Amino acid sequence: MTETLFCYCCRVHHEKTLMRLFPTRQGHRWRCLRSIEAASRTRRERDDFGRQQSEINRESARRAAENSHHLRQVQHL
Ligand SMILES: [Zn+2]
Repeated sequence: MTETLFCYCCRVHHEKTLMRLFPTRQGHRWRCLRSIEAASRTRRERDDFGRQQSEINRESARRAAENSHHLRQVQHL
């Protein structure tokens, strides 16, 4: 019989070989490698998304500044 441990992330038992002790605020908990990898991937994607979003914001702020500059130039003519 294979040894299993309760995964606090999936709330099911997995084979012990797939499990890693994971530090949480409540102490160390058993968690499967798959859920750890999934979580770190999600975090990376979130970081990428945040970076893209701030670039978009910067770009649109720049365009808005440019537009108002053009408007001022047009009004001077
Ligand atoms: Zn799991």
